[in-house]
Amino acid sequence: MKSVKVDLGRCFVFLPEYDSDLLGSVVEAAKEHGIDAAFFMALGALRSASIRYYEQDRKEYRSISLNEPLEIISCVGNIGRLKGEIFAHAHAVLADKNGRAYGGHLADGCRVFACEIMLFELKGVSFNREYDETTGLNLFSLR
Ligand code: ZN
Repeated sequence: MKSVKVDLGRCFVFLPEYDSDLLGSVVEAAKEHGIDAAFFMALGALRSASIRYYEQDRKEYRSISLNEPLEIISCVGNIGRLKGEIFAHAHAVLADKNGRAYGGHLADGCRVFACEIMLFELKGVSFNREYDETTGLNLFSLR
């Protein structure tokens, strides 16, 4: 197990625009404030969502489109860098009008209805993602 000590930096609250892309809004906010390592939480609702499930044996993501209004029951994510660019990685549990839950890795294309994002900057660390042969994922290198 690898680990690294980090310090909490600034904290921000963001309210993405109606119909904006959820992950795109987080990346935009991070860039605006010069943040390249952080974690965040989000609550609210989406107009529609695109999530993914990682098929471990095939090392491929399976896409799931949810074309209906959904509650964001819980969403957690982090900010790092992938190929030098700011990258947001997030997972969420989303619920439909009957309270049925869906969950997964958030993809681009999650359209915001209303959302409250709390972002916590992390200092003294770089979250550069590198390809990991074992899992087929781009994981933190923590070097
Ligand atoms: Zn993920």
